[in-house]
Amino acid sequence: MPSTRTYAPRGALVFDTRLLGRQAGSALTQTRTVPAPEDLRLELVGVPVGADVALDVRFEAVSEGVLATGTATAPLAGECARCLAPLTSSVTASFQELYLYTDKHDKYHEKHDKHEKHDRHQEHHEHEEQDDEERYLDGDLLDLEPAFRDAVVLALPMSPLCREDCPGLCAECGVPLADAGPGHRHDAAVDPRWAALQQLSEQGDDKHQDRRTGAIDLQEG
Ligand SMILES: [Zn+2]
Ligand SMILES: [Zn+2]
Repeated sequence: MPSTRTYAPRGALVFDTRLLGRQAGSALTQTRTVPAPEDLRLELVGVPVGADVALDVRFEAVSEGVLATGTATAPLAGECARCLAPLTSSVTASFQELYLYTDKHDKYHEKHDKHEKHDRHQEHHEHEEQDDEERYLDGDLLDLEPAFRDAVVLALPMSPLCREDCPGLCAECGVPLADAGPGHRHDAAVDPRWAALQQLSEQGDDKHQDRRTGAIDLQEG
């Protein structure tokens, strides 16, 4: 066993796969509610630390290790990307990850290093290589946290909204437009794009004015 790798799993997301055994094809499903670990968040939204996360995981023994397939459902808290109002929501993330038996992994490397793995590393960018990171069992213990964390963070919304049609903030004064109502506007300062439109409509008005003036002239004459 190479000493550079740390196999020691810790935390609530460690599952004991002893009952599963190593007979390829045997499977068992476990459900568990765990407290959310730290740092499950993006800039605007995240899973509150310690919040209840519902896990439903199927473990299946395969020749190289244990395949973990599951879903995690977690509450979310954050702020709306448009109006910055606080919001709560939930996220469901699916994951599938192979955990290799540590006592078999040398054999696995011999087999794979020569073939596709070498090619893949040449073609992939650095951040994509991390997706190929191999995970290992620690004896019978399987630490689901890394796979769980990757899946949940990936499922978090980049731009969470308090509601689908949130109108956001007034660009002029910053008031939430949902509170300000449809009549909210500022006449003094005009956006240059609107100024161009306004000019066009004023030109149109002038033409109407001319015709009206002409009509009046005819009536008078
Ligand atoms: Zn909003
Ligand atoms: Zn305003």
